[in-house]
Amino acid sequence: MGKVYFSKNISPEAIWNLYQLVAFDEPGKIGIKLHFGEDGNHNFLEPGLTRLLTRNTKAHFVETNVLYLGKRHETESHLQLAREHGFNFAPLHILDADGEYTEPRQGYKHYQEVRLPLGIKEYDSFIIYSHFKGHIMSGFGGAIKNVGMGMASIPGKMAQHASRIPLIKGERCINCGICLQSCPGDAITLEPVKINYHTCIGCGKCIGVCPQRVFNIPWSSTSNHVFQERLVEYAAMIAENRNMVFINVIDRVSASCDCDSGAPAPFLNNVGILASRDMLGIDKASLDLVNSLTSEEDSFLTHSHTSGQHQLKYAAATGLGSLEYELIEQG
Ligand code: SF4
Ligand code: SF4
Repeated sequence: MGKVYFSKNISPEAIWNLYQLVAFDEPGKIGIKLHFGEDGNHNFLEPGLTRLLTRNTKAHFVETNVLYLGKRHETESHLQLAREHGFNFAPLHILDADGEYTEPRQGYKHYQEVRLPLGIKEYDSFIIYSHFKGHIMSGFGGAIKNVGMGMASIPGKMAQHASRIPLIKGERCINCGICLQSCPGDAITLEPVKINYHTCIGCGKCIGVCPQRVFNIPWSSTSNHVFQERLVEYAAMIAENRNMVFINVIDRVSASCDCDSGAPAPFLNNVGILASRDMLGIDKASLDLVNSLTSEEDSFLTHSHTSGQHQLKYAAATGLGSLEYELIEQG
């Protein structure tokens, strides 16, 4: 049974106090994995909450670029947005700024490898600092999602979100040739634009470079259950042999995630902070708190129209942690 520490006080001091209860014995260089908030999103966590934590641990803020187009797709504009959102008091590191690599894995249903940002190799330990909120495909996003999706490279995100190959809207193509130069699989031909499905490696680069938005992520090709299983497996594969502790903040809980520039207003506020060494236990405890405070059996099924229960069950089956936890409230 995992221990989950809980404080109703959401403050920099409470975060620092809870962290010390789960802290690493020999942390080395620490990355705080968090979310800088999408351009236009108003629900992401207030940066100042991590001020004491970053000052006392000398940790860097770490994040990865996202799959879809926007400021967080490219390193420079992503860093600029982070600073605009107030993450300007600790070093910032976009982990896939210099590319990605693959590590082999065994014993998983969906994958035999995990695709990771190169920068992950620079850190000895990670504080997984997650805003607990809704998500249209995973039901909720907490520690598991922050690791599984948030620490994967763009091809790793592509592998979880969709079938491997981008969709094409060929009528938009103006034959500029930009995609040909950036395709590492030499998989694109023009007039008309086509992808060779045998040589495409699913890297998603064409999605980002095409000025006409010809290439698209085939979101609907993946059911929510399969998506949640892939997310869990990625989280487990990334966590293998890595030092991680987990902090979840339950505040500004919206039906949609911080990647959504038009996320609806929160349906729950000011619940508290949790800390644990158990990635599954902290998400289960967070979900139980949300459900108990909204008096709903499955709050995210109500608000986000997707249940995250399969995420938890599959995480337990994968050995990610324990569904049983001891909630220890701190003053
Ligand atoms: S980058 Fe887009 S518009 Fe240009 S050739 Fe490729 S598919 Fe066509
Ligand atoms: S996903 Fe990558 S490999 Fe496949 S066509 Fe696009 S750029 Fe080429």
